[in-house]
Amino acid sequence: MSIEQNYQNILSQLPDNVKLVTVSKTNPAEKIKEVYDLGQRAFGENKVQELLEKQPVLPNDIEWRLIGHLQTNKVKFIAGFISMIESVDSEKILKEIAKEALKNNRKINVLLQVKIAKEDTKFGLTVDEAKEIFNQYINGNFPNIEIKGLMGMASFVEDEAQIREEFGVLKQLFDELSELKPLETLSMGMSGDFPLAIECGSNSVRVGSAIFGERVY
Ligand SMILES: *Cc1c(COP(=O)(O)O)cnc(C)c1O
Repeated sequence: MSIEQNYQNILSQLPDNVKLVTVSKTNPAEKIKEVYDLGQRAFGENKVQELLEKQPVLPNDIEWRLIGHLQTNKVKFIAGFISMIESVDSEKILKEIAKEALKNNRKINVLLQVKIAKEDTKFGLTVDEAKEIFNQYINGNFPNIEIKGLMGMASFVEDEAQIREEFGVLKQLFDELSELKPLETLSMGMSGDFPLAIECGSNSVRVGSAIFGERVY
């Protein structure tokens, strides 16, 4: 199937309230432009270096999202243009993003990345850490930050019940925090599990290989 067919096929499976973030990591600018020309505007990259190579050569109405672990010394390179950082996985990185947002005289939208997978994953906040950061946020810390919601990745397993349980943890946290201050974005679901994620309450999916084809590293 062509990229266009894949793209339309994914779109046809998304309810109106669910946003598609096309994950373009490892794919060259020409392929991104192909999907852009079909009307897609939100693209996700997981590495700052790669993002910095693509951003200048692609249209500037692209809504770039960072979805991978971010190091504090790299925040300054993306702070001027990034549309959303979905991978806030420590208070330290959030402080740095707030600092750079202030320097750039803009607000930066972020999602708190929560570790929901039972399997050992390197990055993500615990539920308690996310609550703690959110409390600081609603108490006026991080004035240049908009916490728009939560992001999480389920385990790469076949067991549907386990995946549902993991997505359920994030949905529950989303609802709980939303009572303190309404949140907009619950980012869960990738190529292999986005229909299930949507059933579990996701309203933003991050789909890469189902559109661009399997990544060759
Ligand atoms: C690569 C990646 C995706 C997309 O994965 P696919 O399986 O190719 O759809 C989604 N989210 C994150 C955080 C990723 O790193």
